[in-house]
Amino acid sequence: MLFEKISVVNERFEIEHDRYVGIRDGRIIYIGAWRPSGDWGETYNGHGRLLMPGLYNIHGHAAMTLLRGRGENLSLQRWLNEKIFPFEDKLNDRAVDAGTRLAIAEMLRFGTVSFSDMYFFCQTSAKAILESGIKCSLSRGLTVFDGSDYEDTLAYRDNLDLLKNYNGAGDGRLKIDLCIHGEYTSSPKVVEAVARHAKETGSRVHIHMSETKTEHEACKARHGMTPAAYFEARGLFDQPTTAAHCVWLEDGDFEILKRKGVSVAACPVSNMKLASGFAPVPRMMEMGINVGLGTDSAASNNNLNMMQDLALFALLYKGSTGDPTVITPAQALRAATQNGAIAQGRTDSGVIREGARADLVVLNIDQPWMTPTIDLLTNVIYSAQGSDVCLTMVDGKVLYRDGEYTTIDIEKVKYETQKETDAILAQL
Ligand SMILES: [Zn+2]
Repeated sequence: MLFEKISVVNERFEIEHDRYVGIRDGRIIYIGAWRPSGDWGETYNGHGRLLMPGLYNIHGHAAMTLLRGRGENLSLQRWLNEKIFPFEDKLNDRAVDAGTRLAIAEMLRFGTVSFSDMYFFCQTSAKAILESGIKCSLSRGLTVFDGSDYEDTLAYRDNLDLLKNYNGAGDGRLKIDLCIHGEYTSSPKVVEAVARHAKETGSRVHIHMSETKTEHEACKARHGMTPAAYFEARGLFDQPTTAAHCVWLEDGDFEILKRKGVSVAACPVSNMKLASGFAPVPRMMEMGINVGLGTDSAASNNNLNMMQDLALFALLYKGSTGDPTVITPAQALRAATQNGAIAQGRTDSGVIREGARADLVVLNIDQPWMTPTIDLLTNVIYSAQGSDVCLTMVDGKVLYRDGEYTTIDIEKVKYETQKETDAILAQL
């Protein structure tokens, strides 16, 4: 495909106008002011359109679309214990299949090309992910509430199967990470065992960390150290790790994340909805910690529209710090794209440059709310709507375009999701 006379977010996260961008064999082959020679297949008219890197949603639980709207306006503990956990006890493969496919459809609709997921029934979601063409770093949720060894858990057996059969599948689109759900849902020996397993298999790790004040303080009371210090001491951060939330970091924690190259998945909408607080993102960024963006689940957001999270991410820390200069539009967009790709270990993705993977989004900028274009990047962050996404491409393949999905039967997926949700609710 050849994008013709289109505005482009370049690798410095600045806008260039009237560019030709050529895609071949899944990669960006050409970017320039002149039409390249040769046969590029379809020519895409870029008038009134902006080509930007695809969005990376680096923390979520896709199949929880099934729980969208369940248990609103409750405290975190009541929400989990009374509404979420009983529903999740009734989950099965059919439900997770439907919920995951719905989540992928929603993400593609709003420009997400890759997501990091932590959940159960991962063999089922792996198949849905591969069929959809989206990218994913998938991790099987691990919680251990008794004295069990990691090797005795179902999660361990699932991890062996997933690593053997799915890691790197779909030309590398699907990657398998290991998981510790959190400090408060595991034990020191399990954390150490997962750290060892990650080292042996060269896996990345996905965790929740310091999401709520209660959780953070309870860890200090139990172990005499913060969650970040605890995980570092048990060797978990020796492998590349993505830590979701990091709302309650203390001074020394920033140094740990920086030293160990831990990526942070900031989830501003989820943190606000569950009243968890505001992550100290400006300080993390100032220190050079890699910060990406996550929606968290549809039960605590309540959508997977990263354009909405992006706008809030760019506004929130101005309000919470009292400093309107923190987080520029370019920093916000880089966080939602390239930083997410780095967190997933996809260093040839997340940015528009020659040779990079063609994970791209086209935004319709021919809209009242995007006019005039005094500063197009600012419009993208503060004015654009998720529904302005008119094309989503992963590895050079169009997966969503102008209301149509190329790999998903959206009517069937919506029907199945409602049916499976109703079936579970009927058992509660
Ligand atoms: Zn989460």
